[in-house]
Amino acid sequence: MNAGREANSALPRASEAPSVIAALLEGLPEPAWLVDGESLTVNAVNRAALRLLGLKPERALGQPPALLCGSLEDEAFWQGAARDPFARIRSDTVLTHSDGQPRWVSRSISPVHTPDGGRYWLVLLHDQTRRRRAEAERETLLAELRATLESTADGILVVDLGGRVRSFNRRFAKLWGLPGGLLHEPGDAGLWLSLQRVMRDGEQYRLRIESLLDAPLMRSSDMLRLADGRVLEQVSLPQMSRGEPIGRVFSFRDLSEKLAAHQRIEELGRSDVLTGAPNRRALADRIVQQMAAVDTGQPAPAFALLHLDLDRFKQINDTLGHSYGDRVLREVVERLRGAVGANDTLARLGGDEFALLIDGAQMFEAEAAARHVQQLLAQPFSFDTLSFTVTASCGIALHPGDGSSPDELMASAERAMHWVKESGRAGFRFHVPRKEVDLLSRMRLDHDMRQALAEGRFRLHYQPQVELGSDRVIGAEALIRWRDPQRGDISPAEFIPLAEESGFVVAIGEWVLREAVGQAAYWLGRGLRMPVAVNVSALQFQQAHFVETVAEALREATLPASLLELELTEGVLLGDAEEALKRMRALAALGVTLSIDDFGTGYSSLGYLKRFPIQRLKIDRSFVQGLPSDASDVGIANAIVQMGRALGLQVIAEGVETEAQRDFLAQAGCHEFQGYLFARPLPPDEFEQRVRPRRHVVDSPVSGWLGLASA
Ligand code: C2E
Ligand code: CA
Ligand code: CA
Repeated sequence: MNAGREANSALPRASEAPSVIAALLEGLPEPAWLVDGESLTVNAVNRAALRLLGLKPERALGQPPALLCGSLEDEAFWQGAARDPFARIRSDTVLTHSDGQPRWVSRSISPVHTPDGGRYWLVLLHDQTRRRRAEAERETLLAELRATLESTADGILVVDLGGRVRSFNRRFAKLWGLPGGLLHEPGDAGLWLSLQRVMRDGEQYRLRIESLLDAPLMRSSDMLRLADGRVLEQVSLPQMSRGEPIGRVFSFRDLSEKLAAHQRIEELGRSDVLTGAPNRRALADRIVQQMAAVDTGQPAPAFALLHLDLDRFKQINDTLGHSYGDRVLREVVERLRGAVGANDTLARLGGDEFALLIDGAQMFEAEAAARHVQQLLAQPFSFDTLSFTVTASCGIALHPGDGSSPDELMASAERAMHWVKESGRAGFRFHVPRKEVDLLSRMRLDHDMRQALAEGRFRLHYQPQVELGSDRVIGAEALIRWRDPQRGDISPAEFIPLAEESGFVVAIGEWVLREAVGQAAYWLGRGLRMPVAVNVSALQFQQAHFVETVAEALREATLPASLLELELTEGVLLGDAEEALKRMRALAALGVTLSIDDFGTGYSSLGYLKRFPIQRLKIDRSFVQGLPSDASDVGIANAIVQMGRALGLQVIAEGVETEAQRDFLAQAGCHEFQGYLFARPLPPDEFEQRVRPRRHVVDSPVSGWLGLASA
């Protein structure tokens, strides 16, 4: 098609449209054509129309108009037009381009009568295709947005600057107990009233929302308490468009379950389920309070701590049964209450161990209290037809003097109690500073320990960590072993605490780290992909270069960081918690897994769990021991699992020795376990054999090394 011919297309043909009309037509920016009133054929058409239809002029001129735009409506119009010279129409319709694709247009047809008696119809079109496409796209986008909104677990509400509803998802309506979208359509400002009604303090909420709406750029995060007891977290952000706030987005999340689990463990963590007495943690808090009086300028407050351990209680338990033992423990608590005054504290430390904090007591008063306790217990116990007596060994620590922290003071009292046990039970004894008692033997142990490291006498054993349900070995905890030529095997429970006191644990810890990382790398080289978990003592963690040491050990062994896990205790937080957080983040950034060891035994608050990049909680052995019969262990284990799960953490139980313990943990939703039931800590080659599938099962050594246990 050349320009000249195209230019001619608007010229009148056959039934000669007046040339002025034809010229006008060509001048229009919109597609248009002229239809001859007599013949009802197209007798002029402009270029815009030809472009819209994809036609050459000769395919349009002289044709019936329905050929160009032929919806049923158009057909009907042209049939009527033959009888009614003044007929007109204006509507949206579709026409088909020569490429077969539809074009959406609004089209008007109006009669044009010339003074010389000529009758024509002017067909004017306005192309809507682009708008329709944009609309369709917008609809898809909206549908996608809506689907996204609906698929989040949070309730979402979008309002305009005046607080009127723009949209919300179903989760929102459900969280707030609103009857769906029926009552609250877009544009509704009354929604807030509905929300206020379900709040515990509706007026306060109203003020809060008002202040938010008054400050369109403010971001906020609130905890909302509903009248039905639930707790919602409300986060609100400004909604921006082209740099200007146009409204607000609120998101709501139900925290009730998480908080309940949290609270439950806090409570369980503070009192003893069996007897209702405060527990070790609560006692520690109480000691801190007692000690704190020093800061107020008064003289150091005096008080005594008595640590009681029932003598031969195990026999009662073993011969008469646990429930009988429980009755005895409850009765003991009842009686001991008679020995404490209003300002004193009686706590159950666990098992058959109790503590009494006697306010204001020094040597004389403490001795009187210890004798009183013995009297109270000396009365025979009689349940059913049985009658027997119970005695206790009692160690006494005094403040000030026997310890400057709750831990130290409690350890002093406990040590004194052990001396009583050793010298025949059923008595009491004051703590004598350790320095004077066993300094010499401790110095010897310390010396031997240093020697052992220098001479390479430490070894690591590895205890399999097993997935509950599948029995798949998913990791190995490295545990240090020391066999001294003279003394024989020395337990880490004995020398690690000493090494912690002297600081030597840092050197031991670095050796353990390198050794374990080296072992994992060696295994990896043999096709065994086995994450190793290394115990990190608090002092070691607090070393300035700790993160660098870990990174270096991984680098030297070329071990992927994901194969190393560090077991930290709550003790790492006792110092500078912010610094600890920084350090944990740096370790997490390396790709190292972090877990909290001995979880539940520490005294620190549990709030940190949320903030710290921890992947795993280890339920301490002491809580696993009594499963599934001990009510307090059951409560604590359940609460830890629930809380771990609520926070998205893996939960592993240690010290699992019986099938009953394992089955209980599996039921409770715990993920993993380790313990003698599956395997003791093993030397590396035995560990390897234990997890290697039997030879005849797998032919290729590499494919067989997926960490599957050979049962
Ligand atoms: P932990 O980290 O709580 O380690 C678990 C302890 O429980 C280990 O004692 C392990 O042998 C023992 N165990 C495992 N399964 C069972 C079971 O089913 N029943 C019983 N009764 N015990 C079980 P181990 O090896 O004597 O270690 C004692 C503690 O010494 C460890 O407690 C840990 O705190 C410390 N420790 C051990 N190795 C290291 C180390 O390399 N570095 C540091 N810093 N501490 C270590
Ligand atoms: Ca451990
Ligand atoms: Ca433990």
